[in-house]
Amino acid sequence: AALLIAREKAQQERDQALQALRDANEELERLNRMKSNFVSIVSHEFRTALTGIQGFSEIMRDSELSAMEVKEYAADIHADARRLVRMINNMLDLDRLESGRLRLNLGWLDLNAIIIEVVNRLRQSAPKHHIRLRLAKALPIILGDRDKLTQVVVNLLNNAIKYSPGGGEIVIGSILEGSMIHVYVKDNGLGIPDDELERIFERYTRVETMGTRFIQGTGLGLPIVKEIVQLHGGEVWAESAVGEGSVFHFTVRYGPKSV
Ligand code: ADP
Repeated sequence: AALLIAREKAQQERDQALQALRDANEELERLNRMKSNFVSIVSHEFRTALTGIQGFSEIMRDSELSAMEVKEYAADIHADARRLVRMINNMLDLDRLESGRLRLNLGWLDLNAIIIEVVNRLRQSAPKHHIRLRLAKALPIILGDRDKLTQVVVNLLNNAIKYSPGGGEIVIGSILEGSMIHVYVKDNGLGIPDDELERIFERYTRVETMGTRFIQGTGLGLPIVKEIVQLHGGEVWAESAVGEGSVFHFTVRYGPKSV
């Protein structure tokens, strides 16, 4: 019997070692995938913006343009340059968030007020979309970082708009649940396949389908959302059906942990 137990134990240890090796391998594959995603997305986005800047400035240099045309080309160059700056800022932000070097600038705030402010701002840039508010009547104020939580709402709403290219209805709501405030953003856009739902929160991940191919993005918005939400004691997740739409959810803690 002792021999049997010893043999079983050895087998168990072998299994464990094998599993550890498999896990390490998986992690390595994940990192590798992330690296190639990074290279392909960043080089693509950078090249698109830089090609624009190069082309527009060439036209300005080589052609006789009316004052009106000069203004138009300058505006195009400006837009491309802004995109580059935004992209780099996002990369730096995420890096700071992930390495724990970003300090939250805490203050008391009303999440509903932030949502209303963001919706009013984004409504103007999304004339094809109907954005509806379903806010909880009275939310307790929370201790949080106003700019960062604004960024969370902006990123989720921007995605809802961006990934329903035909327009449609977007609902943003807040609910009080125990010691958490739960916010959701629902769209009836392109949707996301089930097997990608976890992955989209990893940096530099984009879902490549016919529908999304021509939509600009760097796969940084959701990882930033995730880091910020986690810093506020909450979680983020998504439900979706391809062709029907998506709902993104996040929670933030308002009460003490024990409530
Ligand atoms: P980006 O939009 O810049 O690519 P994100 O990190 O914000 O980066 O999103 C990652 C990916 O998740 C997107 O490329 C897209 O494929 C998918 N996605 C995010 N939000 C939505 C949404 N509301 N509907 C459909 N797909 C979405």
